[in-house]
Amino acid sequence: MPERIPEALQEKLATRLTFYQDIGIQLFYHDRYPQHLARVTEEITLPKPAQKTQPVKPVVETRPAPPKLDMFPAASGPSLFEAINKIADDTLPKIRTDLGDCTRCKLHRGRTKLVFGDGNPKAELVFVGEGPGRDEDAQGLPFVGRAGKLLTQMIEAMGLQRQDVYICNVVKCRPPENRTPEKDEVETCSPFLLRQLDAISPKVIVCLGSVAAQTLLETNRGISHFRGEWLEFRGRKLMATYHPAYLLRNPSAKGEVWKDLQKVMAVLGLQGKKGSQAGKSS
Ligand code: URA
Repeated sequence: MPERIPEALQEKLATRLTFYQDIGIQLFYHDRYPQHLARVTEEITLPKPAQKTQPVKPVVETRPAPPKLDMFPAASGPSLFEAINKIADDTLPKIRTDLGDCTRCKLHRGRTKLVFGDGNPKAELVFVGEGPGRDEDAQGLPFVGRAGKLLTQMIEAMGLQRQDVYICNVVKCRPPENRTPEKDEVETCSPFLLRQLDAISPKVIVCLGSVAAQTLLETNRGISHFRGEWLEFRGRKLMATYHPAYLLRNPSAKGEVWKDLQKVMAVLGLQGKKGSQAGKSS
């Protein structure tokens, strides 16, 4: 009986394979196969049963060559090895260039400016929101409207400045009337978010609201089930908390968000601004 792969390793492999799929790698070992085909025959030496009077003579048998494998068509994308090198070299400017003047989903039709992301490309802390609103669409920058001002207050209460962290969204173009981004829009845009997170390689990712959390955690569960808990995202710590726009409508939830951010501060060794209560005054 072959040994089963332990469950923890199965999960890790599944996560890794999903990641490769996200960045467009489908065929892993194709480029190695032709070398294997070059071996036309395989020789096996079998000893004959020992006889008393005659010396043992090896018998050489040959196996036929494996059939030509037409089921492996020529790969058109990069090999796994090329792609891994590409991932290792990925940078925010390259990702921005690849995104280009994006028309991959219908959101491009209503946008004024694509909102890629903003802040420190080597940040230890990344905030991920849902998608640009009216002000962000006009300026091409994330979280610059009312919710953005509250986010800035929260960042400063943590003892940081906006330029110390990186801020981006799941979708890069404003959904009409600020509606929730649709499944196909998230699926089209999120590979770029994943590349951003890999290029920045932060210690902690804070998901602002359920769209960001559900996208990165690949779940449909409501944010209230896992808000404020430490979770893992591709080897990094992930904390999901309420979106600042939700806090504008429900100021009483600010205390919970502040508790979540204090957990983040503890991991990052931040003291916070003296006497701060993260936007409680507003
Ligand atoms: N809400 C978001 O989710 N992102 C922004 O950039 C602005 C508002």
